[in-house]
Amino acid sequence: MTEEKSQQVKTIWQSCPHCQTKIRYSRTNPFRPFCSERCKNADFLGWSEEKHRIPENLPFSDLDAEFQNIDE
Ligand SMILES: [Zn+2]
Repeated sequence: MTEEKSQQVKTIWQSCPHCQTKIRYSRTNPFRPFCSERCKNADFLGWSEEKHRIPENLPFSDLDAEFQNIDE
């Protein structure tokens, strides 16, 4: 009988949130949960770009005016 089995390190796979590449989960990976620095940076840039894409003011005032008319 050997105790080898309990010594085995479990391999956990995860996919990079940016490019979906399967990577081995590692606490020492400085880019986790991303597969590489490139993906980490790309995702970060994507987020900051998203912030600039906030929709312009919707014409709520027009809708409000219509509803007020119905109420009368
Ligand atoms: Zn990636």
